[in-house]
Amino acid sequence: MKVAKFGGSSVADANQFRKVKNIIESDSERQVVVVSAAGKSAAEPVKVTDMLIELEKALKAGTDFQRLFDHVSDRILKIRNDLKLDVNIEADLALIKANLNNCSHDYLVSRGEFLTGKLMAAYLNFKFVDPKDVMIFKGDEFDYQASLDRISKVYAENDHLLVPGFYGAYASGNIHLMPRGGSDISGSILASLLNADLYENWTDVSGILMADPRIVDHSKKIDVLTYDELQELSYMGIGVFQEEAVRPVREKKIPTKILNTNHPEEGGTLVVDSEHEMISDQIITGIAGKKNYTVITIKKYQLNKHIEVLQKVLAVLQKYHVAINYVPSGSDAFSFLFQGAEVQAHLDLILAQLRSSCGLDDVEVNRDIALVAAVSLQLSKRPAIAGKILDYLDNSLINVRLVIQEGSDMKVVFGVSNDDYEKTIAKIYREAMFRHYKKIPA
Ligand code: ASP
Repeated sequence: MKVAKFGGSSVADANQFRKVKNIIESDSERQVVVVSAAGKSAAEPVKVTDMLIELEKALKAGTDFQRLFDHVSDRILKIRNDLKLDVNIEADLALIKANLNNCSHDYLVSRGEFLTGKLMAAYLNFKFVDPKDVMIFKGDEFDYQASLDRISKVYAENDHLLVPGFYGAYASGNIHLMPRGGSDISGSILASLLNADLYENWTDVSGILMADPRIVDHSKKIDVLTYDELQELSYMGIGVFQEEAVRPVREKKIPTKILNTNHPEEGGTLVVDSEHEMISDQIITGIAGKKNYTVITIKKYQLNKHIEVLQKVLAVLQKYHVAINYVPSGSDAFSFLFQGAEVQAHLDLILAQLRSSCGLDDVEVNRDIALVAAVSLQLSKRPAIAGKILDYLDNSLINVRLVIQEGSDMKVVFGVSNDDYEKTIAKIYREAMFRHYKKIPA
């Protein structure tokens, strides 16, 4: 059985609904469908969820909320009418309108998923399940057991379910909203509760690319990667799906597939728990990076033996709320890497305090550093590959200022100047694509 989640752009209008139906009908294992609220389309530049947030603001400010409510209603009615669905969605809209003045934020903002879900259930002829009855929360925590009990009963009676994403409810019945992008989490939790064989995440991109397409033309798609690799790439800024959505499926070792509703034939990217067999002799799975890091390097003879000095340094950094991303170290030097404009404002003060009160031999600072990470499970087994890439960057006259690679790491991170960022990504991509390394026999 597969749980298939469709994002906002996949359900933005009647035409998108038709694509969803084709996808569902082409595989009988797609039995549980999760939808976001209708999102952006060519004709509608604003997501229904954002319209509802605006509507709430207008209600509070006493300004013209009617126009916004009518806009949401029109979008929903248009989908219903275009698809000639036999659903009395007017009754749901009327109830929401009647509740406007005394409902919670979570109730109002979740109505996009509720209404879109109602339409999709009718269109697919799946049973509509209101998440308030099956996705149960206790405080901010998801109540797994209570939810399992409830969804199991529903599923035993009908195994073709449509569950809107993004919300659930407390035992009291009050609606609880998840973070933005939360339908990904709903889908993942449902896949876990129902022990799905696969969690499909249908979006408007055909999976994850090896490198940013704005930097690398026609970047190759990643066909398979592990959850660990995905996590490393996400840490470096690749936004694929809601970060919190990874845990439920991962814990049960349920694979996730990221697919494109507009191009199902392109195949997408599969995320698996265990080590995947290297399909080719390609040594890098993906490349990602970020600009604008600052590096503070502190030096003292045998610094690694002076914990008290490190404590003082950390206290200074903590005082100025420096969120440290990496700490590469040696015996006489430690570097602290961080991003953030607020810290920049205090940088002179931080440096002055480090110089005056920590008993260091030297403090250096390097600004405008970009980090580029090459991620691959192979790297954890063959750290020497990192050296080859380094050689290659050096031959390409890229000045690599620092290299971070810890023992069991499946990534190597190169620090270069912001100006060399794009060039570094393009070079590593080329190296990964066009040079092949021999497999070491098992
Ligand atoms: N509709 C919600 C949002 O726009 C949730 C989601 O799409 O997953 O964030």
